[in-house]
Amino acid sequence: MTHVVPPPAGLRGVLLDVDDTLLGTREAMHLAATRAARQLWPDADPDRLERAGHRFRDDPGGHFRAFTRGEHDFATMRALRVRDLGRWLGRAASPEDLARWDELYEDAFTTALRAFDDVVNTLQECHRRGLRVALLTNSSGDYTRAKLTRAGLADVVERLTAGTVTKDTLGIGKPAPEVFHHGCGLLGLDPGQVVYVGDELDVDTCAALGAGLGAAWLRRPGYERDPDEVSHAATHGLVAAETLREVLDALG
Ligand SMILES: [Mg+2]
Repeated sequence: MTHVVPPPAGLRGVLLDVDDTLLGTREAMHLAATRAARQLWPDADPDRLERAGHRFRDDPGGHFRAFTRGEHDFATMRALRVRDLGRWLGRAASPEDLARWDELYEDAFTTALRAFDDVVNTLQECHRRGLRVALLTNSSGDYTRAKLTRAGLADVVERLTAGTVTKDTLGIGKPAPEVFHHGCGLLGLDPGQVVYVGDELDVDTCAALGAGLGAAWLRRPGYERDPDEVSHAATHGLVAAETLREVLDALG
């Protein structure tokens, strides 16, 4: 078992996911959504308010996945998720509620958002090894820029990467193979020369392998590992890494 399925034509470049790979997005989302729900609907069921952040991030309506398929713009996706959460809390979100949510949520989210502490070293190490690096995320372009800036990574990403592919680049996101190929094109490399590193086994790791790249599955400490996913990863000979350092070491 290994932390990386190497790219078939030899490693020349690395594509990195952003959320929960470079940035602790899920913690910030949990905190921000719980806080926004409490402020917006303070009389809702307290047990459900306690779990509101997880519910919001889990997105049982699948609106974020629909966004990545190009079915919604970012604002529509966000409004659908807030309305779903409101319904679960027994509240109908009005247009005013949606506007207020954005204000409350973004304030808490950007305050809580942090880069993982191995990101800058990883980008520097890739540079030292002569590996080309770019970012590939399913989030929108504007939101990604704002998150990287807020987490203090905008400058290092500007200096040490070939750029960032977002859902806005092609109008769709992962797991579509063309977005991985576009990212490789940004690096000036063939898919068989690039490894993709992300936290979601299906849309990151397996999709990258399906698109002809190498891949790693990164699950940061404290992130649950679904037993079915662990088994599926094992069919590729993969076991999740907890840090980018482990991925780099496995790359050799
Ligand atoms: Mg991610």
